[in-house]
Amino acid sequence: MKAHRCRVCGNPLFFENTRCEVCGSALAYSLIEDAIVPLSGGEYRAGDGRIWHTCANRDLAACTWLTADAGTLCPSCALTRTRPANGDEAGLAGLVIAERAKRQLVRELHRLGVPLVRQGSAADPAGTGIAFDLLSDTPDGVVIGHTDGVITINLAETGDAYRERMRIQLDEPYRTVLGHLRHEIGHYVEWLLLEIPDRMDAARTLFGDERADYGDAVTRHYAQGPPDDWRRTYISSYATMHPYEDFAETWAHFLHIRDAVETAEEYGILRERAVPHPFSRLVIDVWLPLATGLNMVNRSLGQKDLYPFVITAPVLRKLDFVDDAIQRYAAESA
Ligand SMILES: [Zn+2]
Ligand SMILES: [Zn+2]
Ligand SMILES: [Zn+2]
Repeated sequence: MKAHRCRVCGNPLFFENTRCEVCGSALAYSLIEDAIVPLSGGEYRAGDGRIWHTCANRDLAACTWLTADAGTLCPSCALTRTRPANGDEAGLAGLVIAERAKRQLVRELHRLGVPLVRQGSAADPAGTGIAFDLLSDTPDGVVIGHTDGVITINLAETGDAYRERMRIQLDEPYRTVLGHLRHEIGHYVEWLLLEIPDRMDAARTLFGDERADYGDAVTRHYAQGPPDDWRRTYISSYATMHPYEDFAETWAHFLHIRDAVETAEEYGILRERAVPHPFSRLVIDVWLPLATGLNMVNRSLGQKDLYPFVITAPVLRKLDFVDDAIQRYAAESA
């Protein structure tokens, strides 16, 4: 995350600020400039003379982003295909939390060069775009997942009590809405990369053969649990279930680490800018010492470890693979 400052008065700002607490300027976030900018009459005039407008979800989803055309949704909100109905107060409260996490994700995807095309829109003739279904929980439950570019999130996960209950029930060390989004978009990214056959072959040598039956894998995982020595080669127990899950878990950690290192740099916790490639060097030289320190800070305040994971050499190789794959993908599609 970037450390933003008010362009009018220099006051430090948070990503979600809609008004500067010091000078009172109305604010919005520009994805193109990756900056929080002041509004004038509800609009932003960019340096090139273009006029930007506030997202149509500014009230509904507390969205702070700008959009090119008045009355339309910003690049993040536009990716949401289904949301709770008007009048579903609990669902809409969850939507605000989920959309906030999604904006953080969309900013990352934009910077990585992942195309942000709404599935089924005119810009998506091949049908390889993204869509999010952010759904209120139902008596039968809403299954979080990814299918052919469509990501489903159960908004019950925005409630701390529900999410913590699920975390304990599934014996997970970490469970957040942002983590869900980063994991599920990992399935989408792998789906994009599947288009390129030699890359999929390379993925198979690291993550295993993704053609293994997924239903069997789920049954086996929940009946037998992970292999005893899973920590040597996997970032999480869930990653052991199927090669698809290993890729998605690795991808989620790739984003966790990138974002956390950027934040530490922006807020002066790291004195120097880290060199991001190869990714494994960044992890070893920068992230692991930082994560250890942050875990200790959390312990000193009586909190759980901030990053309760161990990164081994095989996991580093997987992280390097996803970094390399997305860089090549972005370069080719640019
Ligand atoms: Zn200000
Ligand atoms: Zn928006
Ligand atoms: Zn998954």
